[in-house]
Amino acid sequence: MKRADGYWGDGTACVHAGSARPVAGQPFLAGPVFAAPYHLGAEDFYGRQGNPTWRALEQAIGALDRGHCTVFPSGMAAIGALCRVLLGAGDVLVLPSDGYFLARRFVREQLAPLGLEVREVPTTGPWTAEVVRGARLVLLETPSNPGLDVCDLPAVAELAHAAGALVAVDNTTATPLGQRPLELGADISVASDTKALAGHSDVVYGHVSTADEDLARRLREERTLSGAIPGPFETWMVHRGLGTLDLRLARQAENAAALVSALRGHPAVTNLRWPGSPEDPAHEVAARQMRRFGGVLSFELPSVAAVERFLAASGLVLPATSFGGLHSTLDRRAQFGDPVPEGLVRFSAGCEDSHDLVTDVLSALATLTG
Ligand SMILES: *Cc1c(COP(=O)(O)O)cnc(C)c1O
Repeated sequence: MKRADGYWGDGTACVHAGSARPVAGQPFLAGPVFAAPYHLGAEDFYGRQGNPTWRALEQAIGALDRGHCTVFPSGMAAIGALCRVLLGAGDVLVLPSDGYFLARRFVREQLAPLGLEVREVPTTGPWTAEVVRGARLVLLETPSNPGLDVCDLPAVAELAHAAGALVAVDNTTATPLGQRPLELGADISVASDTKALAGHSDVVYGHVSTADEDLARRLREERTLSGAIPGPFETWMVHRGLGTLDLRLARQAENAAALVSALRGHPAVTNLRWPGSPEDPAHEVAARQMRRFGGVLSFELPSVAAVERFLAASGLVLPATSFGGLHSTLDRRAQFGDPVPEGLVRFSAGCEDSHDLVTDVLSALATLTG
């Protein structure tokens, strides 16, 4: 039995989403379909246009997002397609000044020269009628990457809608289990599924979900016309990974909570952030709109050398960009050009045992304090 609201719980939804009704002798999750041309006469006729493996994943993610999903070969491809569909010369785009840095570079280097007006606004605002005036699209990122700041989605969506703008949320950090932007007033949820959704650090992927059927149709058209399509095998890997998203997020959040309580007040650690912590400045707003918290936290070590010493001393924490995978990883964001302090790190808690991870992190930190 589904629940009173007509939906399965998170674990059930992740396991079953997008799977066809059982057929004797067939696998639980159908394998990838690799056709370029198909025998003519049915829905699919050419691989750039349509693919049953995409549709299965789109049904799965759409069910979790509560919208119509269109898949793309990366998070950036999803953001790019969305901007190309919605924006033209003379339009005003509002985007986060503290969000994913490549989205900013894409807008500055590829959209602004086409005659777009771009306004960069911090995730925490100020969100006034002035900053959204005349906007065609307000792109938000909450929690933001890497700062983990949060904005009040229903309030900003109302403000943006009053100005006649559409609202899109980069929901990468939260995933559809952590937050459902379409139910919080946003028109569009866009994400990099490279991170926790696929979750195994072995595939680059993205999607856009919207409740607007016509916008979903235009996004698919844009995918066909631009030719930037996801591979069937990658699509199948994302679908396979999605099956354990509920379990992985639960362990990652448990590990993040354990790390935050171990690191709070540690002499080598400052600016500790995790929206799941009641002591975090973002917690109150985050708790109102997020369904659960994930494994991404951030904090500052005293210097670049301290980060290097920490990594050399740790047996479990790997230096890597990206986040949301099985392995605990640490990323010093200033090395990629984020406007943050040199020692600021984004820490992605993986699926290791909490006790092992906390013990390893504390002993690596002990090498910094002598
Ligand atoms: C990684 C990331 C992207 C870009 O996604 P790719 O799959 O790497 O192209 C966009 N937004 C956020 C918040 C991200 O973390």
